[in-house]
Amino acid sequence: MVLPTKVKEILIEQNVETLKELDEFVRHLISTRSPEAPKRKAIHYSYIKKYVRCGKERCRKCRSGRGHGPYLYAEWREGGKVKTKYIGKKAPASSHIH
Ligand SMILES: [Zn+2]
Repeated sequence: MVLPTKVKEILIEQNVETLKELDEFVRHLISTRSPEAPKRKAIHYSYIKKYVRCGKERCRKCRSGRGHGPYLYAEWREGGKVKTKYIGKKAPASSHIH
């Protein structure tokens, strides 16, 4: 046993409720420390500019040009799929615009 005697003595004094909480706490500690715990992969976002068409027949912007925008979209890969999310007109600080 590697459990220090002091820890054992403290544990013996605890009631079941506390021990259950301890149990959860210990499990949590183990799950955060074990190497096989799934590490959250840092998602790499790239930012792209898009022009969008509103679809209105009379819209001058769409008829004469490339549409509305540019609007910013975040693009990232998740589970092998490319996902995009509308961000707005301004990119978040520290981002690369393609
Ligand atoms: Zn339009």
